[in-house]
Amino acid sequence: MHELSLCEGVLQILEEQSGIQGFVRVNRVCLEIGALAGVEPEAMRFHFDAVTRGTLAEGAILEIVVVPAQAWCLPCGEKVSIRQYFDACPQCGSHQLQVIRGEELRVQQLEVE
Ligand SMILES: [Zn+2]
Repeated sequence: MHELSLCEGVLQILEEQSGIQGFVRVNRVCLEIGALAGVEPEAMRFHFDAVTRGTLAEGAILEIVVVPAQAWCLPCGEKVSIRQYFDACPQCGSHQLQVIRGEELRVQQLEVE
């Protein structure tokens, strides 16, 4: 049900933005989701369709861009790319990593009327 609450959150953002920007319909939503957010794009689309029914975003196309995760490696002293939590540093093999990117979910782009 993780995706369901995320979709409700997205709809809330859209409704707020429609008030601020004055649009009445959303045709396309591009979402940026961090690779570590644990979100299934297919489940997102499914819930998005259900949640937006009867709203300003009914029938809108949901595009999902998965953003690669990054962590800070303490031994290397630099940023490295990781695929999932508890991955080792690809350079030195250390597990002393601090995740700095990859958990976010944000609306990157909207196509509205
Ligand atoms: Zn390292």
